Amino acid sequence: MKPTHIEHLGIAVKSLAESVPFYENLLGTTCYAVEEIKGQKVKTAFFLIGQTKIELLESTDPEGPIGKFIEKKGEGIHHVAFAVKDATLALEEAESNGLTPIDKVSRKGAEGMNIGFLHPKSTRGVLIEFCSK
Ligand code: ZN
Repeated sequence: MKPTHIEHLGIAVKSLAESVPFYENLLGTTCYAVEEIKGQKVKTAFFLIGQTKIELLESTDPEGPIGKFIEKKGEGIHHVAFAVKDATLALEEAESNGLTPIDKVSRKGAEGMNIGFLHPKSTRGVLIEFCSK
């Protein structure tokens, strides 16, 4: 399944309180949504650049995926999310092409999107997310 565009870049940050003003200043635009995703132990903040979003991710739990990522690697780019027609189908196709999905079927992520991830060990070190409406 061919992605239509980069839906968003996920960036792990230690503090939204500090990072939101930083990105507002950098991008010359205001954060349009802040949302807590309890299941993923993160709080997200979104910016829109053209049709691509920047998703800042702050951990709400040091044992959560973003908490562990920051402990290991520090702040920085966490994942690339591609917009596809059907995230579950994209995950299935990737698996049949020999990649390792973290999610077998898509689940609900920020903004009510259907999302699923591929394991970075199978994608040359980049955590890849598929997103569909
Ligand atoms: Zn994401």
